[in-house]
Amino acid sequence: MSECIFCKIVEGTIPSKKVYENDSVLAFHDIQPAAPVHVLIIPKKHIPTMNDVQETDAALIAELFATARQIAAELGIAEAGYRLVNNVNADGGQVVYHLHVHLLGGRKLGALLS
Ligand code: C5P
Repeated sequence: MSECIFCKIVEGTIPSKKVYENDSVLAFHDIQPAAPVHVLIIPKKHIPTMNDVQETDAALIAELFATARQIAAELGIAEAGYRLVNNVNADGGQVVYHLHVHLLGGRKLGALLS
């Protein structure tokens, strides 16, 4: 069995508050939300980081962003605006090594760079 916490969420052995799911992607509410809307969009396939994405994953990466856009619209934050974040490795602040896009919104977000 996988030791990856997000793979366990995909398998259903760790619970999550699902927002959307299809054969290739899963979206769920972050357990420690940094904004009123904080959803994680992940591929079901285990890809550790953006550095590990292959040419053959192009459609899957596009689907992550399309899913984020769809969820933003469904949760009513598309017009006000939102932020999509992908942290990569230690200096990027990555904690969970299963590729994920953070969808953040529901309030005015501060400056990105620090
Ligand atoms: O990009 P980074 O790896 O730092 O983000 C991981 C995110 O996964 C965190 O925001 C954390 O709260 C979230 N998380 C979660 N459910 C878990 C474990 C982590 O939503 N079971």
